Amino acid sequence: MRLQHLLPHQLRTAVGEGWPLLVPTGCIEYHGPHMALGLDTILVEELLERVARRTECVVAPPFWYGPTGYAVTGPDRGTLDVSTERFGRHVKDVLSSFWDVGFKWIVVGVHHQQMDGPESLAIRQAAAEVTFEKTHAERGHAWWGKAPLSPADFVFERIQVWPSVLPEAADQGVVMADHAGFYETSLLMAARPELVELERLDMHAPWYCTSADSKAREASVEAGERMWQAMVDAWLRKLSTLHRPKRPTPEQVTITGLF
Ligand SMILES: [Zn+2]
Repeated sequence: MRLQHLLPHQLRTAVGEGWPLLVPTGCIEYHGPHMALGLDTILVEELLERVARRTECVVAPPFWYGPTGYAVTGPDRGTLDVSTERFGRHVKDVLSSFWDVGFKWIVVGVHHQQMDGPESLAIRQAAAEVTFEKTHAERGHAWWGKAPLSPADFVFERIQVWPSVLPEAADQGVVMADHAGFYETSLLMAARPELVELERLDMHAPWYCTSADSKAREASVEAGERMWQAMVDAWLRKLSTLHRPKRPTPEQVTITGLF
């Protein structure tokens, strides 16, 4: 379910049952002459929507405007850049509100510049600050120091930042360190074919579209679907390890209803 489409009673169910809130992030950045500028965000949004078709969760609208550092091109090709610091402050405000709504698990998905790029680091810092500040406000001084946390207390896992390609998918050959090459092109062809025009790859295409180990021209829908499957399965498996409250069985409901 999409956060922006929820009715209040649906939100109550999602929060009450501990459904994870999945949050896509990305940027607007040139991705060769053959692909849409929003690819990095679109890929994460697509991933989380595919995950949402197979498990109970809520998908939030993306953080669209991440920092790029103009590493790939300048603004002349459509790349946008913002202050990493101010991007992180905005992310922190939104994560803080998600926490206040009551979501027990907030998982931010990142593709752009992988886990150690400025975008991921800003989100991870925001997540850590929200976790510490909110927990202090809720529990007071020495909330960690006064006694060991109960084994059922997963406060440090409440906000997490995951890569689009989890290690399990990487083990199956999906490469995250790709920019507009075989991997990203195949993924977008499979998900949004109308956003790819392979015929625009000519001899003037940038090096990252034609490098020996990642030739965008060899991309295919079949390869993209295999990657999607590996990426979605890995996310589903990791999500299943979150500690959600169990729904009562019909017998339990009946017995409780007797009293
Ligand atoms: Zn990309």
